[in-house]
Amino acid sequence: QSKNKGRNTVERYSGRLSEALNEKLRLTAMLRRALEQKEYLLYYQPQQELATGKVECFEALLRWQPQSEAMIFPDKFIPILEETGMIVSVGEWVLREVCFQVTCWQTKGIAIQHASVNVSLRQFQRPDIVKELLSIVTESGVDPSIICLELTESIMMDNFRENLHKLQALRTAGFSVSIDDFGTGYSSLNYLRRMQIQELKIDRSFINALSEDTTLVNAILGMARGLGLRIVAEGVETEEQKSFLRAHNCEFMQGYLLSRPLPAEQFEAFILSLGAATTDNPQQLKKNV
Ligand code: C2E
Ligand code: MG
Ligand code: MG
Ligand code: MG
Repeated sequence: QSKNKGRNTVERYSGRLSEALNEKLRLTAMLRRALEQKEYLLYYQPQQELATGKVECFEALLRWQPQSEAMIFPDKFIPILEETGMIVSVGEWVLREVCFQVTCWQTKGIAIQHASVNVSLRQFQRPDIVKELLSIVTESGVDPSIICLELTESIMMDNFRENLHKLQALRTAGFSVSIDDFGTGYSSLNYLRRMQIQELKIDRSFINALSEDTTLVNAILGMARGLGLRIVAEGVETEEQKSFLRAHNCEFMQGYLLSRPLPAEQFEAFILSLGAATTDNPQQLKKNV
């Protein structure tokens, strides 16, 4: 394998392949130091409850800002973090950072009801994942029941039997679990019923296609209702999509129409401007940190 012969061999490949490999090697080397160099940051994308207009929920989305380069989006570096296993420590950082931020907002009287965090296959496969996640959340004094872990269908189906136990344990610990990008994978209705999950996120491709075809979204909404799941429409970009979703009793929406993912201070300003998420009782913390 050329990989073992090192960089020189890699560079002899011609054209695009070589360029792509070099770029990957370069990013990998940079990523190895990204955590200690504090180059990661989180953006927060608000979710709105359609019936009330309230915004008290977000999804945390990872960004990478290397010292001397433009900000890099997940699609470009998460696969590398996955391949190398670095996603495990980065994933822990993400959860710790979310808990820290939620705590800060709570002390300011901004009560976040639901904070979603993406979890990758490599993380979920860890035998002690539930303990690991719980200890991060407990240490930060956040109530696990506001933390929602987003998994994709392919992660769920990877090892169904073992996952059932993990999902049960997450539930016992107080977390909620969501299926991200729902509809793009291959989970059967029967599996869905047996899994301990609390939320479905309708993939944005179905929301995007609403003007041509409403059958799938209707079917997913009906099914989620039947199973008693919280439902979030992803990638909502137009008023038409929003009114359709509201008329069909979709509970929550997330998308550019409401807001792009925002840095923490801008997210805070956004929800304060809506005036919805503040509470008279700022000290909802289990303990002060
Ligand atoms: P996702 O979890 O499905 O996140 C939603 C993605 O859709 C985000 O892309 C978000 O910026 C984008 N989005 C939101 N609203 C709209 C819209 O109205 N229109 C369009 N076109 N896009 C919209 P982003 O932030 O680039 O993240 C991409 C993916 O990277 C995420 O997809 C998730 O799978 C992964 N990811 C992000 N952060 C993390 C993380 O902390 N850990 C792990 N394991 N994966 C992450
Ligand atoms: Mg997600
Ligand atoms: Mg998604
Ligand atoms: Mg995705």
